[in-house]
Amino acid sequence: PRAWTLAARPQGAPKPTDFALIDVPAHDLAPGEIRVRNLWLSVDPYMRGRMNDVKSYVPPFQLGEPMSGGAVGEVVESRDPGLREGDLVQHMSGWRDEAVLPAAEAHKLPDLPVEPQAFLGQFGMPGMTAYFGLLDVAAAKEGDVVFVSAAAGAVGSTVVQIAKARGMTVIGSAGGADKAAYVRELGADAVIDYKSVGSVVRALAAEAPGGIDVYFDNVGGDHLDAAFAAARSHARFAICGMIDIYNDVKPTELRYLARVIGARITVRGFIVSDYLPRAGEFYRDMAGWLAQGRLKRDETVREGLEATPQAFMDLFTGGNTGKMLVKL
Ligand code: NDP
Repeated sequence: PRAWTLAARPQGAPKPTDFALIDVPAHDLAPGEIRVRNLWLSVDPYMRGRMNDVKSYVPPFQLGEPMSGGAVGEVVESRDPGLREGDLVQHMSGWRDEAVLPAAEAHKLPDLPVEPQAFLGQFGMPGMTAYFGLLDVAAAKEGDVVFVSAAAGAVGSTVVQIAKARGMTVIGSAGGADKAAYVRELGADAVIDYKSVGSVVRALAAEAPGGIDVYFDNVGGDHLDAAFAAARSHARFAICGMIDIYNDVKPTELRYLARVIGARITVRGFIVSDYLPRAGEFYRDMAGWLAQGRLKRDETVREGLEATPQAFMDLFTGGNTGKMLVKL
């Protein structure tokens, strides 16, 4: 078996030489362990933070050690009564073709009529992030005007659709004409192609003349600043991610930050794992919307273990529409 390791901690944007593919020795299973042939690997923006040697809500990757991340695979050997050969499971031993792990750390895929890889995207961690971030953290409700950035991505595309299913007005932003068209197809009422508008502040003011009630932040930077500028009194901001600054060394500049005060804006950060105990609510509502045909799902699929670092790096240049996945 083979696994990707971090060869060097990236300075700024990650580059191919920061990664190394190594052979890992095969070993026999201990009682309670399973062997999984990975079928799908997830690459996610939060992994950039794990490449820095800093304390965070997930520990940093160790240099030379196999990296980890979401994966879906098939159990090929089991020494645990709870899982059998042929079971499809999701787990966190990604970035490798074969994983040996305690059965307790693997979960059978939920019983929903979607393809297995959907549990790495809309029906998995990113979908849950969208659902709880919008409905709980931002307390978004019918009639609200919602602005969401990176709206063509895994989290953002799901935010758009949940917001529409719950009767909100949605303004999405994404980079490029194709992505803007896709966000409109998802049901957004207005779309900002941030790569062509010049100023996001001006574009958002034009699309939301009455202001916004909710901002779902995936980007930070100028998008967050634009949301501050456009916020109505008592607006709520769910701070999900700030991909614009993950590779940065310089601090961000927010000209409109002080509107937090005058407009009495609530700004709340969150981590999706806080909501795992409430996953049942997510699956129930998602199953309902799925059955009603309300959920579109797009994926960008790269082939082969070798393609994993590039798939990850391309998240930072917008190489994906919907969930970025690696198919083994
Ligand atoms: P996406 O599928 O949205 O992929 C990332 C997208 O971000 C790219 O496709 C690109 O789209 C956009 N992007 C990249 N760089 C920039 C930039 N400088 N400015 C504006 N847009 C940029 O990823 P996810 O859906 O997995 O994640 C979205 C966000 O949610 C990330 O910030 C992530 O860290 C965060 N997150 C947070 C979680 C939590 O628990 N708080 C859990 C999961 C995700 P485009 O072409 O439109 O620029």
